Order: sequence, then C-alpha cells, then structure tokens
Amino acid sequence: MRIDASKCIGCGQCRPFCIMQVIDFTRSEKGKVHCVVNEDECVDCEICYRAKVCPVDALKQPETQWPRSIRGTFSNPLAIHKETKVPGRGTEEMKTNDITNRYERGFAGMSAELGRPGIGARLRDAEKVFMALAPLGVEFEPQNPLTNLLEDPKTGKMKEEVLNEKVLSCIVETIIPLDRILEVLDAMEKVAKTIDSVFSIDLVCRADEDLSVPSLKVMEAGHRWYTRNGKTNIGLGHLNVKGADR
Ligand code: SF4
Ligand code: SF4
Repeated sequence: MRIDASKCIGCGQCRPFCIMQVIDFTRSEKGKVHCVVNEDECVDCEICYRAKVCPVDALKQPETQWPRSIRGTFSNPLAIHKETKVPGRGTEEMKTNDITNRYERGFAGMSAELGRPGIGARLRDAEKVFMALAPLGVEFEPQNPLTNLLEDPKTGKMKEEVLNEKVLSCIVETIIPLDRILEVLDAMEKVAKTIDSVFSIDLVCRADEDLSVPSLKVMEAGHRWYTRNGKTNIGLGHLNVKGADR
C-alpha cells in the first residue's frame, strides 16, 4: 500500500485500520504533516483502503510484481491464488472436512499457522517449518498455496526470492497417519522456538461413529496439552435462508 503524499492531509483516519500498524505520521521538507506506509512491513492486505475512511483518496495499492505479489494473495481475503483458485491463506478443506472427507479415517490434518493474529510472518519462517517436517517424509498439502512456493518438497527448501516476503498469516499443512501425530508434534514444537512470530498448531480429524475424536485419544495417551475447538460457519452476512430478506 502506498499513500500519495501530495494528497494526504495527515488526518490519521486510516491508521487504526492497519492491522500491522505500519502507517505513521511524518513531516515533509516543507513542514507538511502527512502519513506514510512502511512498505517493507506492509502485507498489502488493503484493509486500510477498503475501510473507505480516507477523505482525499490518498491510499493506493500499486500493481505488484512477483515476488511482492505474494503479500496480497496471502493477506487480502478477496484475492484468489491463481495456482489453487482458493482465496485466503490455506485450503478450504481444513474447515470443511466433514463434507469433503479429505482426512480419511486413520489420518489427520496437522498444520502450523504462522503470523495470526495481528503479527504477520516472513516466509523464511515458513521455510523453517517445512525444513523441520520434510525429513519426516510427511505429505505437504498440494492445494495449499504455500506448498506451491517450495523449491524442493523433499528438503522443504522454498524459492529463494520469496523468503523475505511478509504475509498476514500462512499455514504449513500436512496429512499424516494418526500414529505419527506425536512425532510431528515434537518437530513442530521444536521449530516453534525458532520462529519470529505467533505460532499455533492445528490438528483436524474425522470423529468416530461414537463421536469420540481419534486424534484426541492420541494426544491424551501421549499426555500432551491441547484445546478442543470447533468452528461453525453459519454464513453471517449472507441472506441464504429462504425468506430471510423479508
Ligand atoms: S495494506 Fe494492510 S498492512 Fe498495508 S498499510 Fe494497509 S492495512 Fe496496513
Ligand atoms: S486517511 Fe487519507 S488523508 Fe488521512 S492520514 Fe490516511 S491517507 Fe492521509
């Protein structure tokens, strides 16, 4: 994101909308106060722009080239990854496993989320996670846009030119047999200590017929800490119930 200094009146209205807190006041040589974006720390999420608070239309998202373009596609929820045709930072299936059956019985989805909430992550940290997990021979989810940035899936090395790019958040996704959960968890916990951002681990699997959760049994047997979360998308903001618009 960029602010046109010739238009900006330094009202500061856009600053509270910047989740990365990278919009700041400055003073020009002629003494005029205006705002600037620290473009190295900005993730091109366009939240400040979409807030429509600028009274003089000074905020502009310049067209970005590779690899800078990665920032917008991972951080702007309206952007769609051209490789996977999925908007956002991960795959849809992690949230919709009960419909897609992506994680079959006996398997779990395990992922490391970097950068959320509100910190952001450089992709060099994602590479650390890939390189910690690749030697275990885990399968990286091919539909995840981050997987597409790998130079070598066998070593977890990412394309050199993307490493300094910063995104709002990203997810390293794997599919593993249930009996490897603790091994992968150990590797994730170890690499987490080297990550310069928020780091959280997701574990997703299909519930059994008796509604028990196989992955949680593995965690309990290994005396490992976890919190149990569920997410239900009820489509707030969408009038998709017949008669709801009356
Ligand atoms: S695009 Fe996002 S990170 Fe960049 S200045 Fe705007 S709100 Fe902040
Ligand atoms: S809202 Fe517009 S005029 Fe006000 S500080 Fe931000 S860019 Fe400048």
